[in-house]
Amino acid sequence: MKEMPNVLWLEEIKKEDINSVGGKGASLGEMTAIGLPVPKAFVVTAQAFRKFLIETGIEEELFRRLERLDVDDNGALESVSKDVQGLVLSVEMPDQIREEIVAAYDRMGEDGTVVAVRSSATAEDLPDASFAGQQDTFLNILGETDLLEAVQQCWASLYGARAIYYRSKQGFDDRSVNIAVVVQELIRSEKSGVMFTSHPVTGEPLTIVEGSWGLGEAVVSGSVSPDNYVFDLRSERVVDRLIAEKEIMIVPEGKRGTKTVTLSAKQRTAPVLSDAEVARLATLGKIAEDHYGIPQDVEWAIVGDVFFILQSRPITTIKRPEIPHGGSAEQQKSSLGVVLVEGQGASPGVVSGRVVIVRDVKDTSAVKDGDIMVTKMTNPDMVPAMRRVSAIVTDEGGMTCHAAIVSRELGTPAVVGTKKATKLLRDGQVVTVDGEKGIIYEGAVAAPAAAAPAAAPAAAAATPVITGTLVKVNVSLPEAAQRAAATGADGVGLLRIEHLILGLAKTPGWYIEHDAEEEFIAELYGGIKTVLDAFPGKPVWVRTLDAPTDEFRNMEGGEEEPFEHNPMLGWRGIRRDLRSPEQFRLQVEAFKRLWAAGYDNLGVMFPMVNHPNEFTQARAMMKEWGVDVENATLGVMIEVPGSALMVEEFIQAGIRFASFGTNDLIQYTLAIDRNNENVADMYQPKHPAVLRLIDYAIGVCRENGVECSICGQAGSDPEMVTWLVEHGISSVSANIDAVPRIREAVARKERQILLDAARRNA
Ligand code: PEP
Ligand code: MG
Repeated sequence: MKEMPNVLWLEEIKKEDINSVGGKGASLGEMTAIGLPVPKAFVVTAQAFRKFLIETGIEEELFRRLERLDVDDNGALESVSKDVQGLVLSVEMPDQIREEIVAAYDRMGEDGTVVAVRSSATAEDLPDASFAGQQDTFLNILGETDLLEAVQQCWASLYGARAIYYRSKQGFDDRSVNIAVVVQELIRSEKSGVMFTSHPVTGEPLTIVEGSWGLGEAVVSGSVSPDNYVFDLRSERVVDRLIAEKEIMIVPEGKRGTKTVTLSAKQRTAPVLSDAEVARLATLGKIAEDHYGIPQDVEWAIVGDVFFILQSRPITTIKRPEIPHGGSAEQQKSSLGVVLVEGQGASPGVVSGRVVIVRDVKDTSAVKDGDIMVTKMTNPDMVPAMRRVSAIVTDEGGMTCHAAIVSRELGTPAVVGTKKATKLLRDGQVVTVDGEKGIIYEGAVAAPAAAAPAAAPAAAAATPVITGTLVKVNVSLPEAAQRAAATGADGVGLLRIEHLILGLAKTPGWYIEHDAEEEFIAELYGGIKTVLDAFPGKPVWVRTLDAPTDEFRNMEGGEEEPFEHNPMLGWRGIRRDLRSPEQFRLQVEAFKRLWAAGYDNLGVMFPMVNHPNEFTQARAMMKEWGVDVENATLGVMIEVPGSALMVEEFIQAGIRFASFGTNDLIQYTLAIDRNNENVADMYQPKHPAVLRLIDYAIGVCRENGVECSICGQAGSDPEMVTWLVEHGISSVSANIDAVPRIREAVARKERQILLDAARRNA
């Protein structure tokens, strides 16, 4: 390592200094160099850390303890980590380093500047990317004593248990790993947030800005729903904005740390950004994107009319590992590393992380941010942990299982139906999950930033694609509503409320038995309202409860659930609500209150109907409970062949719309269990019998002027959707990630139909 100062200012940092200042320091230096408004900062270099180890005489002792460690022995790992960190904290910082840090700090401002102290780890010849997030950060540090302590704590965090484990599995020698520390003026932001300089899924030239009040931690940590603004870089206009209800903000507290404060009623609903501010941010984002040559995920802050860029890194969701062309499929796979296990790619994205085997919900307490959850099959009570992980792998299930649906909504890569991942993978093992190809590789396989976005079909379009066939989106978790709305979808074709209810961890029966009906209604009301608010003026079809008995069993009150030989064919969907009027009434009460609150865009859809009598009966019950059924938008799912064949009678009974639930329609037409990995290869969405049923039902709906849609997984397959448009479907509803490619498929087919007609008439 060449001789380097203990302290470097951002303005002094050159690209070659990455080994001294780490990835974070280098990136801040680079952003400063291209003129972005980066808050003032200096970096305590990796060399300063090395000198500290040597001059205090702890170096040899420290590495000796690490060398002897078996990182697979959890107890030993925790204890050595604690010892080594204690060692780093126990010694005094050498005078010269301390004086240089203090001198730099003094230069920052006269009466002591409040700073953020951030770790920036690095290994020789390999910048920090793979170490991101494993070392500590301290916000709101004031005064030299606290600053010096925070720097030393950052150094100690290089030896956290997780960091040691990770480096060992990656084959890094601890002696070659260093840490730099960025000391940066803390911006007491009045507003802050993140922005994607291009659309994070499609790569379209749309800058998505999320903003909230106070410090950026609120948005980054997800503790507040931020406003969402979409700025079209082509027309240079804000083309969409969603003003969220922002309940809290995070602000600096006292001399150290931060606190959360509740916002006033006025601030909650006030827009955080003006159009001019969004435009200015988009311009700054574009500078970063042009400089790095790849879309960026940028953290920003504003104080008064001063803008700051705090961080910029490549967007990971549109990265792909480069699989070389040519060679056999096996060779292509293995060129990325050793394939440990394969399944179905259920939610796209490539990530690396540490495996945590989850055998039941109790194990989820061991799940840390960024881990890879490996389990037989996810359950609704695992959703809180699913939010924290970077990928999900299951033994069981297909493209429409719980794990697949929830992962897609969370935007988390997932591979399902591997049959044996829980047996083949080990706790703590580092793997890479490719959620598109359905492959799990050994180790952290580098995912080089691909030049082209993964799916940028709409990027070439000069204006957003408008289609005659409505392109809607499916939502299961209210927290995904904003992401869903940001796709520009024409409404929600399916809101599955069972995910909302299952997330409560208590069955509807429990609420009824414990006189807690109001609580239950309020939960439903709130969750559905979040989605309705994200789609003002656009139809949102909310489906009544469809949870099979086995999904309720893990919840409080679930002891009462009957054991069924085949829950898929059992007590679920509308048939269960009709025989559990109180459970049905509570749902209807939530709908009624939403209609009364003016949400005319709410439609209600009944699942698993197989005879028009069920629709008639459900409607009559709703009428009895005070719903104006003549004017309410009520419809049905077509999920069983019986309802496809009887669609005419359903229309006579008064349905306003029908939507194909192909996930079930396929399994019930072909007798192939949709969640059974042993027959997953026989599950054929385009089986002629399935297509014949769909074609028939579309035809009858069209003749009668009834909207006909699809909300099963097949609606996210461009080929299937092309076929559906050709056969006259009125709308389609896709998963969030699939909306752009589905919109493109619809538009293409529609244009082709128009062209053909024009040619015929010419
Ligand atoms: C379907 O069956 O296609 C559907 C959308 O419902 P679910 O996946 O919730 O059964
Ligand atoms: Mg279904």
